[in-house]
Amino acid sequence: MKPLSLRARLTLWYAGVLLAILAVVSALSYSVLRWSLLQQVDASLAAVAQIVRETDERGAGGSEVERAIRELLGPGFSDQFFQFLDPEGRSRFRSGAPHPGSLPLSLEARLNAAHGRQTVETLEDPANGPLRVLTVPVLRAGRSVEIIQVAAPLARTREALSRYLTTLLALVPVAVGLAAAGGAVIASRALQPVREMSRAARQITAEDLGRRLSRRGADDEIDHLADTLNAMLEGLEAAFAQSRRFSADAAHELRTPLTALKGEMEVALRAARSPEEYRRVLASSLEEVEHLIRLAEDLLVFSRSSPGLAVPTAPVDLEPLLLEVLETGARRAQGVGVTMRADTFEPATVLGDAGALRRAILNLVDNAIKYTPAGGKVELSLVTASGQALVTVRDTGIGFEPGAAARIFEPFVRLDAARGRDTGGTGLGLALVQSVVTAHGGAVEVESAPGAGSRFTIRLPLTSSK
Ligand code: ADP
Repeated sequence: MKPLSLRARLTLWYAGVLLAILAVVSALSYSVLRWSLLQQVDASLAAVAQIVRETDERGAGGSEVERAIRELLGPGFSDQFFQFLDPEGRSRFRSGAPHPGSLPLSLEARLNAAHGRQTVETLEDPANGPLRVLTVPVLRAGRSVEIIQVAAPLARTREALSRYLTTLLALVPVAVGLAAAGGAVIASRALQPVREMSRAARQITAEDLGRRLSRRGADDEIDHLADTLNAMLEGLEAAFAQSRRFSADAAHELRTPLTALKGEMEVALRAARSPEEYRRVLASSLEEVEHLIRLAEDLLVFSRSSPGLAVPTAPVDLEPLLLEVLETGARRAQGVGVTMRADTFEPATVLGDAGALRRAILNLVDNAIKYTPAGGKVELSLVTASGQALVTVRDTGIGFEPGAAARIFEPFVRLDAARGRDTGGTGLGLALVQSVVTAHGGAVEVESAPGAGSRFTIRLPLTSSK
């Protein structure tokens, strides 16, 4: 089933809660009314009983008693009636009220009277309808001898109660209906800003990510939603801009060697050349092609490790991984007259992708070897500190200005000193390192000074099970 709209749900909740409140209030008010009406009847019955008793004590007969009651209570007595029973249960006298039939005396009332207690009860009398009956024993020398019964019909009380109930049953649904209509209007008005915001958000497309949703300034949930969406748009805009810049830079990096290649071939083809000449052109073209292949490979690896892509998370033991890197690095270092050695290696396990981590660390080692002149040293170490594994690659190479530290991690950035050395780098190595390390929840830091060498440190969170 299709879920209800937010507006319908709010309205239903509102009406439902109001219905529950009204039901409780109605039930309570009905019981209070019923109780107070009976209290009133009981009080007047007690007053009549008192008069009957006092008048009888003065030795007066039935008609006198009635007259005394009428004098004292006035017309309020009109629908009440009483009877005086002797110890045998025979009626000594009774009132001349509209229903002169004898009053029913329940077993319970008789027993209570025998124990000197009065009883008040509601009885269904076939002749008179529902009656409220008060039975009072009259004690003479501690023994109950006679009984006074006073009764009042409950028909009018019941009628008043049933009219009240009918009114409630008619008014409660009307009130709930009105509240639901009001609730629907309120919900609709409360959701109006949300509708406006989604309309505004729909108009923002990939082409105009610079646009933002406006805040109303109330600092409420709607403004917070606008802030959240704006922050998301900002992130998207930055990511889009970065990817555009990356594509432009990549195209530029590809175009330079391709233009050189084309130029060389064109010149070679302009006239007949000697075999040596052709060999030289081909050898130089091969260099450009090799550079292009390296660039294409780096681009591929970089795009695969871009942030946002899921990293496989298996436990990776860093120690053997670093030994592998050390071995590969040592071979390459030996070829260019650089000494490669290991410093401290502590056991450390992190969660992540072993292949990607190996490639990242090897990139740092390759750079250290590339930018260290013959006779220099490259050192690799692995230590653990405050829940982190620290992989450090230190070299005694050419270094760079500390101000360039942030720039070198951007794709295609190569410092002038590196360009001068013509190492064949693509400028993607450190960008790749950073993206792999960030995807692993870590960070890369660098310290360097021109001529004094560089130190790159990768920090990775250790597995908690360690
Ligand atoms: P490249 O392919 O040019 O090595 P990287 O992204 O790996 O690209 O490095 C970017 C730039 O940072 C390099 O061109 C170089 O100028 C500088 N760099 C990186 N590592 C070192 C290092 N160990 N010593 C000096 N400069 C370095």
